[in-house]
Amino acid sequence: MDMLKGKVALITGASSGIGEATAIKLAKAGARVAIAARRADRLKALKTLIEKEGGHALALQMDVTDKDSVNAGVKKLIDSYGRVDIAFNNAGIMPLSNVNEFKIDEWERMVDVNIKGVLNITGTILPFMIKQHSGHIINTSSLAGRKVLGQGFAVYSATKYAVSAFTEGLRMEVGKAHNIRVTSIQPGATQSELQNATTSEGYKEMMASSMGQITMLSANDIADAVLFAVSAPEHVNVAELFVLPTNQI
Ligand code: NDP
Repeated sequence: MDMLKGKVALITGASSGIGEATAIKLAKAGARVAIAARRADRLKALKTLIEKEGGHALALQMDVTDKDSVNAGVKKLIDSYGRVDIAFNNAGIMPLSNVNEFKIDEWERMVDVNIKGVLNITGTILPFMIKQHSGHIINTSSLAGRKVLGQGFAVYSATKYAVSAFTEGLRMEVGKAHNIRVTSIQPGATQSELQNATTSEGYKEMMASSMGQITMLSANDIADAVLFAVSAPEHVNVAELFVLPTNQI
C-alpha cells in the first residue's frame, strides 16, 4: 500500500496511543514519518518497529511546549527529509479535576501542551508548507472540544475548544491562499495512556467506571480516520473528523 509514497509526516505525541498508531499506519502507507515526543526510549522502539516493517522513521525527542525544542526538531526533520507534507498535532494531556481543587500547575500544563504546543508546531512548520504551496495540518481536538463532558472537564475542554477554534480559523487562512489542507479531528473515548495523568482520586475512579460502560475506540481506529483524511485527493479537505464509539453519547 503506497498511497502516501513520497510524503513526509510529522506526528507529535508519537510515543504512545493515537500518535503511535498513526505513525505505524502512515509509514505502512508509504510516508516517511518523523515521530516526536519526550520519551526517547519509546521513540527508539517505534522507529525500530517501523523500519523492521520496511518503513522510514526519524525519531525527534521534542517537548512541544518548548519553542527551542520544536525548532530543533523541525530543523532536523527538514535537514533529513527536505520537506514536510503532513503535520499531525496530536500531543496532549488530560489531568481531570474540579476547578475548586485548584490544581493550577495542571491547568497550566494543559494550556501549554494542548494549545501552545499546537501553535508552536504550526508556527514552525507553516513557512515550509507555504513555500511548498502544499501541506496538511491535522489538529487533535476532542468530543470534549464540542461539549463539556461533565464536572472535571472544565480546563481540558477549554483547551480543546481552543484547538477547534484555531483549526477553523487556520483553515480559512491557508486553504485558498496556500493550498494547505487543515483538519480538526475530534475523537471520543479511545484506549490510550491519556487517563494516567489524572491525579484527582475521585476522577480516576469516575473515569475507570464510566469507561467500563463504553466499547472504547482503539488508537488504530483514529489512525484509520487520519489516513482517510491525508490520503484524500489534494483538492479534498476533510475539514472535520468526529469519531465516536457507537455506544458513547
Ligand atoms: P496518550 O497519553 O497515549 O498520548 C499522549 C502523547 O502526547 C504521548 O505520546 C506523550 O508523549 C505526548 N506528549 C505529552 N506531553 C508532551 C509534550 N510536552 N511534548 C511532546 N509530546 C507530549 O494519549 P492519546 O493517544 O489518547 O492522546 C492523543 C491526543 O488525542 C491528545 O491530544 C488527546 O487530548 C486527544 N484525545 C484523546 C482521546 C482519548 O479518549 N484517548 C479522546 C479525544 C482526544 P511523551 O510523554 O513521551 O512526551
